[in-house]
Amino acid sequence: MPIIRVALNVPLDTLFDYSITEVSNKDIGLRVLVPFGPKLMTGIIIAVTTETDVPPEKLKSAKCIFKETPPLPKTLLELFQFCSQYYHHPLGMVIMNGLPVKLRGNKAVKQKELKVPYQYSLTQTGKQIDPASIPARNTISHRLLALLKHSDSITLDQVKEISPSAPNRLNQWIQSAWVSASPVGIAATPPSLPPKLTAEQQLAVNTITAEMHQFNTWLLHGITGSGKTEVYLRLIEHTLSQGKQTLVLIPEISLTPQLEAVFRARFSTTHLVNLHSGRNDTERMTGWLQALQGEAKIILGTRLAIFTPLAKLGLIIVDEEQDGSFKQQDGLRYSARDIAIFRASQTNTPIILGSATPSLESYHNALTGRYRHLRLQTRANENATLPTITCIDTRTSKAPEGFSEPLISALQKCLDEKHQSLVFINRRGYAPILLCKSCAWTASCQRCTSRLVVHLRDKKLTCHHCGHTEKFPLACPQCGDQDIIPFGQGTQRIEDTLNKHFPEARILRIDRDSIRRKDAWQDILKAIQTQQVDILVGTQLLAKGHDFPNLALVGILNADASLYSIDFRASERLFSQLMQVSGRAGRANVPGHVLIQTEFPNHPLYYALQQHDYDALANLLLAERKAAGFPPFIYQALLRAEAHDMKIVLNFLTGAAEIANPVPGIELFDPVPAQITRLQGMERAHLLVQSTSRKLLQSFLTVWHAKLKQLPSRKIRWALDIDPIDF
Ligand code: ADP
Ligand code: ZN
Ligand code: ZN
Repeated sequence: MPIIRVALNVPLDTLFDYSITEVSNKDIGLRVLVPFGPKLMTGIIIAVTTETDVPPEKLKSAKCIFKETPPLPKTLLELFQFCSQYYHHPLGMVIMNGLPVKLRGNKAVKQKELKVPYQYSLTQTGKQIDPASIPARNTISHRLLALLKHSDSITLDQVKEISPSAPNRLNQWIQSAWVSASPVGIAATPPSLPPKLTAEQQLAVNTITAEMHQFNTWLLHGITGSGKTEVYLRLIEHTLSQGKQTLVLIPEISLTPQLEAVFRARFSTTHLVNLHSGRNDTERMTGWLQALQGEAKIILGTRLAIFTPLAKLGLIIVDEEQDGSFKQQDGLRYSARDIAIFRASQTNTPIILGSATPSLESYHNALTGRYRHLRLQTRANENATLPTITCIDTRTSKAPEGFSEPLISALQKCLDEKHQSLVFINRRGYAPILLCKSCAWTASCQRCTSRLVVHLRDKKLTCHHCGHTEKFPLACPQCGDQDIIPFGQGTQRIEDTLNKHFPEARILRIDRDSIRRKDAWQDILKAIQTQQVDILVGTQLLAKGHDFPNLALVGILNADASLYSIDFRASERLFSQLMQVSGRAGRANVPGHVLIQTEFPNHPLYYALQQHDYDALANLLLAERKAAGFPPFIYQALLRAEAHDMKIVLNFLTGAAEIANPVPGIELFDPVPAQITRLQGMERAHLLVQSTSRKLLQSFLTVWHAKLKQLPSRKIRWALDIDPIDF
């Protein structure tokens, strides 16, 4: 009887053998339902064989192979293998992490689920309808026809926005079939006419296009507003013309609608799927299958989309490559950017890493020639200039309630001139601290090493690490005094203060609390673009990628805290964030100004920022990293462990260090508590291992990992984190 070797979603580094009556090599990569312990589980067939080490009486037989969806392609299985080895994570768990939820379960996929339409277009009947012949009260019909008059196709979401029942009720007029791509994939008359490229853009496009047939990692290093998107568009166009697919990874869900709109406008008849993490399970699966079959030509998504099977991959783009959200922080702790590079080399495809402030890792690779460096140093729109950036010294210009005098007058001037402004403060809530004035007690989370944040409007205290909330205490739990006050500034408090100062201004706060509602983002962006807002208050959510043409002023509050952080990546992140948020100003015809409130106006980071000099700061930070032996000059891995009791954690890590047996070239540090020592009631610590050789580190980890699994690990959770970005 044939045997199949199956990868299952269980924390064991092994494949599982099952007998099966009928199977062939073509079934490798298919989903299979098998008994595992008392239950049934779905796994992926990795190999077909005739031999097994499992004794015959113990060998179980597989229930059934699911054949409704195609097998995972060989290259995708190889990608999963690579991740499993590199991140030291069981193959079955790696695979299941990468599959759409619908394909992880024990159910067959229904035929109708495989055909969920994303786009609607007019039927022949629909095209011939004269809107004048429809009674005015049929507003739904009118709106639908009006919308389709201006675009060839619209999405299901758009149809449903007009009326949820429209797809069924108006099915003589609109059809739910895929709008298939024209042979070259590009519309004859694109609705958005491409601008003439700047000389720098043209050079970048030409250089990359000349080498589209082979793997290269291109660092597209362009200042904010330099028109990186247009470069992507031209390269996608080229890829489409060869009948190939482009995978575009972006860090934030909130950015996908904007980019999707840009792509759809340019490539209106191209089959695009958006696989971001906010899509529902069916949509994700459908898009995923269309990518697998090579039908979807542009695949847009957040981190997880890197595991999309792509039959005809021609180009990968990672926008804002420096962004930390490309790294998953639990389970399989992968970096989607790094896997993207592996994937590009695996398929001999070019990959573009785009950024205004590349990660020091990528910048270093560009300097040393491992990546190809392309720069865009001027803004694309010839009227747009880089903003002037100035520091306000808050040691002399005091900032009661968060605002210094010069910042208030600049905001006033902006209001008078009917321009928009943005106040950036990277801390949501009303105030970061609740303080007792008589005994200095502060409210802290019972489950985490962190303070509770004051959310005044809900009259609650919230832990931003574990989500725990509690009621506002009436008196200090320590001394009983009632004089407890919110201390410091958060977005809500800044919003209140601005309302007091500028009662006539329209102020909009944007942070994770204000965008909870579905579609909130779209509404916000629309309000900004249609000038319904005078002053924006927001966290780093606002900093990324958005184009606000009328924004003239950016005020930056409370950035100093990151200057002297113990996290060696804090400066890099702060600089990138401030560059990005500053880059929101002066993008069109309005000149931009950025004012930074700080007690350290002479700090090199602020100096480089004022000069718009990424290289100066990056080289300074690289020199520091080199001297201190930090990445990118060294490769790191963390053994993370947590338990209810710190003693257990440290015991485990000490044991782990004892069996490590590091060879020369491997540096093993002592166990130390994590920066947030207690999280959700768990005590956390870690052990750092590093080496100047990635290969050496990897082979050490393989041996060590096998031994770690032998250690007694009752009551403890542990994991390896390769290339960690937070401690
Ligand atoms: P980046 O992503 O590099 O910050 P964007 O791609 O958002 O910059 O482009 C900034 C602005 O410049 C956008 O409004 C875009 O439409 C415009 N733009 C891009 N390329 C050109 C060009 N060649 N000519 C004129 N405007 C351009
Ligand atoms: Zn007190
Ligand atoms: Zn907490």
